[in-house]
Amino acid sequence: MADRIGCSSSTECVERIASILGSSRDAVAFTGAGISTDSGIPDFRGRQGLWKRFDPRMATRSFMLEDPRAFWEFYAMRFEALAGAEPNPGHRALARLEGEGLLAAVITQNIDGLHAKAGSRRVIELHGNIMTSRCDDCGSVRPTEECARLVRERGEVPRCVCGGLIRPSVVLFEEPVGMFEAALRIAQESDLCLAVGSSLTVYPAAAIPEAVKAAGGKLIIVNADPTPLDQRADLVVRDGASPVLAGVVRALGLGEV
Ligand code: NAD
Ligand code: ZN
Repeated sequence: MADRIGCSSSTECVERIASILGSSRDAVAFTGAGISTDSGIPDFRGRQGLWKRFDPRMATRSFMLEDPRAFWEFYAMRFEALAGAEPNPGHRALARLEGEGLLAAVITQNIDGLHAKAGSRRVIELHGNIMTSRCDDCGSVRPTEECARLVRERGEVPRCVCGGLIRPSVVLFEEPVGMFEAALRIAQESDLCLAVGSSLTVYPAAAIPEAVKAAGGKLIIVNADPTPLDQRADLVVRDGASPVLAGVVRALGLGEV
């Protein structure tokens, strides 16, 4: 399979993205775990993805209810991996593009909060944010840091005063994606989707880039590995997210990120 569709060299691809972005009216970015690997956070399905070491069942609602302790050990470990992470040039590039009026929003599948940390203002976190946790019964909120400490230091499962299980404020498999409709509306009004670092296999999230295409917009995919939407995309660039996005900012004359 060709490494690129719609452009031939890395330089040409970056220039093509800059040119399409520069002439779009309402562009959105759709990001996945791959935009954060350069911040030291492993993805799920990439070459060194988490699902090569762990069973994806650990991120299901049924596993949480069945074995809350093992569930929390997995999430405490994920929290610790994400807590100290800093945004990379890929996140910063998207924030800069938004600041310059070239990007309307970032719709992300990530739970690491790095887009906001990089300065992006309109961020839809489809799968929530791991930094906070909430009671599964009454919804009362507390910092995940506190819960992770309880699990690590005392081997205890965090419980609410109401008796409910405290769980990370992320969307687990088997749970509805609450922000999906809002994201879909933004997508349907967009004329360009820049999909970065996503295997485009997790639904309903992956329906977002499809919706932009279905509404007559363009789709650009920047991802290290092939995706099921490559053949429908206007441009496919199989390179690292950070160098490509930093290159786009540079090609638009907006300096370094
Ligand atoms: P995924 O793991 O399915 O796919 C990530 C893709 O990114 C892979 O195809 C991989 O080839 C590519 N990739 C890895 N590093 C890259 C880089 N530097 N440049 C370009 N591409 C790169 O992840 P997904 O599509 O986001 O979907 C899976 C789920 O993973 C989401 O539900 C999300 O909540 C969760 N997740 C989030 C984080 C995070 O918050 N950082 C980390 C792991 C998983
Ligand atoms: Zn409660």
